[in-house]
Formats: sequence, C-alpha cells, structure tokens
Amino acid sequence: MRILIVEDEPKTGEYLRQGLTEAGFVTDLVRDGVEGLQSALAEIYDLIILDVMLPGMDGWSVLTQIRRAGKDLPVLFLTARDHVDDRVKGLELGADDYLVKPFAFSELLARVRTLLRRGVKASAAEFLRIADLELDLLRRRVTRAGRRIDLTAKEFALLELLLRRQDEVLSRSLIASQVWDMNFDSDTNVIEVAVRRLRAKMDDDFDPKLIRTVRGMGYVLEIPH
Ligand code: CA
Repeated sequence: MRILIVEDEPKTGEYLRQGLTEAGFVTDLVRDGVEGLQSALAEIYDLIILDVMLPGMDGWSVLTQIRRAGKDLPVLFLTARDHVDDRVKGLELGADDYLVKPFAFSELLARVRTLLRRGVKASAAEFLRIADLELDLLRRRVTRAGRRIDLTAKEFALLELLLRRQDEVLSRSLIASQVWDMNFDSDTNVIEVAVRRLRAKMDDDFDPKLIRTVRGMGYVLEIPH
C-alpha cells in the first residue's frame, strides 16, 4: 500500500513518514501543494494525506484538481483549524475523512486503515469489461489483452462512459455533457479528437475494433458482429 503525504511542516511530515513506514506502508513525502498535485496525478497511490495550509497551492485546490482528474482514491485531510466550516468544506470537496492537528499517531493510523479497507471492499465490483478490454475503476487502470494502456483523465472518463453504456449509441452532445461538463458547441471538435486518440491507444493495435462511429449520430462501444 502506497501513501502520498503532502505536508509542509518538516516535523509533522517526517513524523508521518516515519510512522507509516514503520507500520508497513510505502510513503512519499512532498512539501508543497503543486508538487503534491503533480505526484497525485502522475503516480498511483492507495491514499493521500493532505494538509490544508500549504505553500504553492492549498489543500482545497489540490483535492479539487485530484477529483476533477477523475481520481477517486481516499483522501485524509489534516487541518490545524478546528472550524466546522473547514471540515464541511473538505468533505464537500470530496475528502473522505479529516483529522485536526495535533493528533495522536495511533488515531491517524486507525483512520488510514479504515479508509484503505473501504477502498479494497469497493474494488471487487469496480471493473468494467468488454471483449479483452478491462477498466479498473479503483486503480484507474486500463488493459487490453493484458497490455497496460495509458490514458489521460479525459480519455479514461470517455472510455468509462462508453463502457458503462456499451451497445448504446452515444451522441456527441451527451458525451460532451458527461465527460467535459460542457454544453455541446458544434464548432469544437474536442470529442472527435479525444475519440481518435482513444482509438489509437485501445483499438488500432488490436482486434476486434470496439469503438464504432455511427455517422450523424455519435459513437458506440460494442463487439462487432
Ligand atoms: Ca501546513
């Protein structure tokens, strides 16, 4: 189990890193928000411990960006400010739990273990499949014929939508609203471009081709007959 710690206070960060390492976790410690976000998006973690007050970018913004990128791993907030508003804000933004500083390490470890158990339980039902293509919702991984396929967050979201509604023709406007959270603008070819890129990664080198263009209507993910 790999944990990302984003904490700028050296003493607290080191205390967390050491304690979690001794408890058997693999840990990465970064000291500012921008670096924290970059690590969270580039690497695969099972959990993030995120301080609120950080240089570069605050914890709220880091969390918002992580969720916007489609990452649903558990996030435990550390807040020094014991205000109800802060806790509510954190939970609204998609944090899974919070801890007010100063805290006992045993308390933190208990919260971490609870959050990780929750994640493992969910994973059993969190695969979407068609033919030899598999999408792992929890780990945000896609494989085809056992080969790992690297997708951007948007490509992943697009494939997830197509998989959830496989055999159904999805219009460009529906895709735009679901994946890009925008109203369809006929001048933009953002969807065509995204579908082309997705195909290049998951269809071009494989058979059968799973994404079909339905002229004038949209796209469908299906096993061709
Ligand atoms: Ca701080």
